[in-house]
Amino acid sequence: MLIDIDRLPKEGLRVSRDFEFLSLDLVEENAVFLEPAHADVTVRLAGDEVYVQGQVTARLSFVCSRCLTPFEFPVASRFDLVYLPEDVDALSEELSDEKIDQMFYSDRQLDLRAVILEQLNLTFPAKPLCSPDCEGICAVCGEIIRDAHCSCLVKESNPRWNKLKLPVRDKS
Ligand SMILES: [Zn+2]
Ligand SMILES: [Zn+2]
Repeated sequence: MLIDIDRLPKEGLRVSRDFEFLSLDLVEENAVFLEPAHADVTVRLAGDEVYVQGQVTARLSFVCSRCLTPFEFPVASRFDLVYLPEDVDALSEELSDEKIDQMFYSDRQLDLRAVILEQLNLTFPAKPLCSPDCEGICAVCGEIIRDAHCSCLVKESNPRWNKLKLPVRDKS
C-alpha cells in the first residue's frame, strides 16, 4: 500500500485495515498466520518528516524452539515512527552509527505495507517458546518432557544407568 506523501491531508491519513502477508515474508520461518494482521495507523506529514503512529495486531502460530510444538502467538504492538526523505548524497557521505537506525522514504512515497511488516517482525522473539519454562524434548527417548517427566526419566534410578556412566568418569 503506497502512500503518496504530498497528498496526505493536513490532519493526517487514518488507515484501518487488514494486511495479508505470506509466512515467507516473516523473519520467523515457522510462523503461520491464524488470521491476517490488522493495522490502525495515522500517517502525518510535518515538514519533510513522515510520522507513522498506531498499532498492529495479529494472531500467529509459532513452533516452540525447544519442544517443537506449535503454539499461538498473539501480537499487539504499538509504534511511533519517523521517516525522513531519502537523501542519497547524505547517505553516501556519512553512514555514522547513529544514522543506521534512521528510516527513510523515497520518491515521495511511503510503503505502509512494508512499515507494518517490519513492525510485525520486530515483535518476534529470537527463540520462540511455548512457555518460558518449557523443558523441551528428552535427548534419550525423544518425548516432550512435562513436569520433569518423560518415559525414560522415570527409570533413571535403574542401576543400569549408573553403570553406563562409569567409563565416562574414568576418562576424565
Ligand atoms: Zn515448548
Ligand atoms: Zn526421556
